[in-house]
Amino acid sequence: MTEIPEKLKIGPREGVSYPIKVQYCGNCSMPLEYCEYYPEYEKCKQWLEKHLPSEFEKVKLEEESQGADGEGDDKKRQKRGGKGMLKSKKKEEGPKRITLSRAPRGKKKSVTVVTGLKTFEIDLKVAAKFFGQKFACGSSVTGDDEIVIQGDVKDDLFDVIPEKWPEIDEDFLEDLVTKKDRFCLK
Ligand SMILES: [Zn+2]
Repeated sequence: MTEIPEKLKIGPREGVSYPIKVQYCGNCSMPLEYCEYYPEYEKCKQWLEKHLPSEFEKVKLEEESQGADGEGDDKKRQKRGGKGMLKSKKKEEGPKRITLSRAPRGKKKSVTVVTGLKTFEIDLKVAAKFFGQKFACGSSVTGDDEIVIQGDVKDDLFDVIPEKWPEIDEDFLEDLVTKKDRFCLK
């Protein structure tokens, strides 16, 4: 195996903004960078905290640094270099997201499609085998970062995945079918 040069490695780096994917706010439906111009910015932040905690951390840090001139400067700087900083760094390692969706197969059957496990450095073959055993059904790697499970097990996966891989918080799991509904619940 050849060593990957540092600059070709995947993953965000400090101080660089990534146009990889525009993320939209579920509250005002604008790209996140426009939220602060929205009258209900507080609500946007609440939404952000709940759905995109890593983005929320960034907003918080930015706000803190903006307010960091003048009095209380030292105090704030201490805070920024403290626990909160470490936590946000860890969470920003990469654009991680696992999607779970149901796809029709034949007239009555459906399969479950799981994508994104690779972003957590999970061996897809091992994962597919695990799902197959867990649900006693067919399960195979069908793409670069895709597993198809023969059966409608999507709802179970929300429990099974974080249980099997504790590093995957339930927040990383995105339900592709109900996502739309959730965005309408303004
Ligand atoms: Zn917003």
